[in-house]
Amino acid sequence: MALTPEQTQELQRTVDQRHAALLAEITRDLDRMREDRQADPAGRVGDPGDESVASLISDLEQADTSRDISELRSLEAARQRINEGRYGLCSNCGQEIGYERLRANPAAERCISCQTQFEKTHASSAGSTL
Ligand SMILES: [Zn+2]
Repeated sequence: MALTPEQTQELQRTVDQRHAALLAEITRDLDRMREDRQADPAGRVGDPGDESVASLISDLEQADTSRDISELRSLEAARQRINEGRYGLCSNCGQEIGYERLRANPAAERCISCQTQFEKTHASSAGSTL
């Protein structure tokens, strides 16, 4: 069954809240990094206002926040899908992902069977840690 407008709204709120919390956490990390950099005379002096999101993200990827960044990206992708009216549909097979799954993971972009398949494929190419 397709998501009702109420369910979509509820999930959108969850995505927005999670996104805001994550962004606050990342901004805090970034501020700390900038302070470190200013304390270092060899450090790059930033151009305030001229710093694109791309360079911000590349800065962050050097920090220990890449997990947060990838979650932030998936939340941003979820917001985009909401805006485009594609939210809740599997990006792989186009089937509905399901409300329960989205409640557990509002940024989910694949249905369970495609996600399981994806993880298998992904794990085999990345090498198992077991
Ligand atoms: Zn699917």
